[in-house]
Amino acid sequence: MAEPVTLKTPVGALRGVGPRVEERLQNLGIRQVRDLLFHLPKRYIDRTRLVPIGSLRPGDSALCQGTVELVQASTGRRRTLLCRISDGTGALTLRFFHFTRAQQLGLQQGMTLRCWSQQLRRVNHTLEMIHPEYWRVETGAETALEQTLTPVYPLTQGLSQFKLRDLTGQALTTLGADATGLSELLPARLLQQYSLLKLEQALRYVHRPPAQADLASLEQGAHPAQQRLAFEELLAQHLSLRQLRKTAQAQASFAIDSNAQGRLSAFLEQLPFTLTRAQQRVLAELRADMLKPAPMLRLLQGDVGSGKTVVAACAALLVINSGYQVALMAPTELLADQHYHNIKQWFSPIDIPVTLLTGKQPRRTREAALAQLDSAQPMVAVGTHALFQEQVAFGNIGLVIIDEQHRFGVDQRLALLEKGANENRQAHQLIMTATPIPRTLAMTLFADLDISTIDQLPPGRQPVKTTVISNARREAVIKRIHEVCKQGRQAYWVCTLIENSEVLQLQAAEDVREYLAEQLTGLTVGLIHGRMKPAEKEAVMADFKAGATDLLVATTVIEVGVDVTNASLMIIENAERLGLSQLHQLRGRVGRGTQASACVLLYQTPLSDNARVRLNRMRETNDGFAIAQSDLELRGPGEILGTKQTGVPELHIADFVRDAHLVPRVQQAADVILSQCPEVVNPLVARWLNTKIDFGKV
Ligand code: ADP
Ligand code: MG
Repeated sequence: MAEPVTLKTPVGALRGVGPRVEERLQNLGIRQVRDLLFHLPKRYIDRTRLVPIGSLRPGDSALCQGTVELVQASTGRRRTLLCRISDGTGALTLRFFHFTRAQQLGLQQGMTLRCWSQQLRRVNHTLEMIHPEYWRVETGAETALEQTLTPVYPLTQGLSQFKLRDLTGQALTTLGADATGLSELLPARLLQQYSLLKLEQALRYVHRPPAQADLASLEQGAHPAQQRLAFEELLAQHLSLRQLRKTAQAQASFAIDSNAQGRLSAFLEQLPFTLTRAQQRVLAELRADMLKPAPMLRLLQGDVGSGKTVVAACAALLVINSGYQVALMAPTELLADQHYHNIKQWFSPIDIPVTLLTGKQPRRTREAALAQLDSAQPMVAVGTHALFQEQVAFGNIGLVIIDEQHRFGVDQRLALLEKGANENRQAHQLIMTATPIPRTLAMTLFADLDISTIDQLPPGRQPVKTTVISNARREAVIKRIHEVCKQGRQAYWVCTLIENSEVLQLQAAEDVREYLAEQLTGLTVGLIHGRMKPAEKEAVMADFKAGATDLLVATTVIEVGVDVTNASLMIIENAERLGLSQLHQLRGRVGRGTQASACVLLYQTPLSDNARVRLNRMRETNDGFAIAQSDLELRGPGEILGTKQTGVPELHIADFVRDAHLVPRVQQAADVILSQCPEVVNPLVARWLNTKIDFGKV
């Protein structure tokens, strides 16, 4: 006698699952019976009632029934089988291009057929179903209709709807029978307060909605049963991060010395500008955090060019004044190098050592930097990911700053906590995003972090004027570059390359440079791309910064952070290929000084509707927060946050855009659970999250 099926039973034990089906289910992430329950339909079809043929319209999907009036097969070059049925209200043609002889013989005049198809068409005044599903029904007999809406599941190669319907049916029978499996984890109080269905009810409903269910709301994912599940999933995501935060904050930190402001004032006085009100407010927030005995965990966001770097430098000074070290990590060598030079320039006059650590340095330079870090001397180390490699030992690290890293996922944040731990003390953390993050997204994805926002640009900035121009008119654009550079300004030309091969991309960028150099006699045209050695990139950037190059042709390596204030014109080729946040980042490379700047978005025709909307959005606004929100709506969170491996959690049911309205309630519910029933946190997180966070490690 076989073991009774429970939610934890491997799917291989179910009726009709052999090794082949098992493997295919695995491709869908389905291993246990419970995984089947969380594999939700993407749509539904209604086979619960018969629709009179006379009331059908082209485009409808419907189940109908009628008597066969005519069967006609044409052989020849285009084989077709036509079968005409009628139900007294109208007639309908079933059309098959692929059919067997048995199938043809099985259709006979006078028999009753029930058939279902999506997307009816009208051909020569007659309605047609192409390759419908059909069954023979005994004439006169009342054949039962389906009692529930029929689910349509996401599939993978080699698995049929029929199979999945059968398997989810089997899984549903274990619900309730298996008391240990899917227990209700949400406290009764919350279920009541938010009028939520019980988990089990919700699952039953979404797999087999009753005939009278609201199909439209189900198809939009807006039905209360689906929203109940989305709510629990978002809650689990949120709780996992809150848990992470709680664990980190339980550790002691490197509290800064409240009197140690001396060198900060000296630094602020020598700056060629004063901090904006927003910068001052954020700095005060950082200082207040770092005065506390628990580590700071903060996300600093601000639009491109809002001046995040200088605020980070001030925070670094507070920590150094208190006798600790600071690590500043940038996403690219180029940016690390730029920060190194800036900060060195700022900190050398006040006698603070600054060192650079990247993966591609000569060994001697690197070893000297490592020794300095190990010595525990208060200082700033600027670098790339190399900063966090195994061999790097910080003697005394009090603050870790991550720049331009909105793509900094939970796993990386965990690794960072480990690296920042030193004899049971935890370094403060400051993560600076390259792009503003829509509020709801931030509340879900960065629930472990406090958020500070610089919501003001330095004074005197003129908005970048953006134009959208067809590639066919690039001559006029080239003329414009000439004019701008003749006035002593500089320009960027960004190639967004089409080929996947790096070698071909490089070739294309070189071709563009050559072409532009020919067109722009008298101007110096430089080239920078991702395959250059760090030293080469540095040299190219140094030339551009010094004004020795007029026009810099670049691949998207310059996307984040690069700061050359004299550049006032940006051309982006094939702009229609890029997401809004990326375009905004690129555009942010100009308009960093006080002169008027412009951005030209060159596009290749024909332009898709979505691309047209996106490019127009860029023309309409310079507000990074508004742009991020549009990007989220038009292309989803992946666009803003990068792909899976870079930290957007994979959601089964919830959708960051569609379900954004749930977020405030999710937050409240998390507060209730954390304070009143913390024991459900772990089971909830384990139920929904694939990548288990090992809180014990931190
Ligand atoms: P982002 O926030 O995009 O990282 P940066 O920190 O690179 O911006 O700053 C952009 C530019 O603005 C830099 O040249 C910086 O020196 C300058 N800047 C920063 N703060 C101010 C300010 N308060 N007034 C004037 N210029 C400022
Ligand atoms: Mg920056």
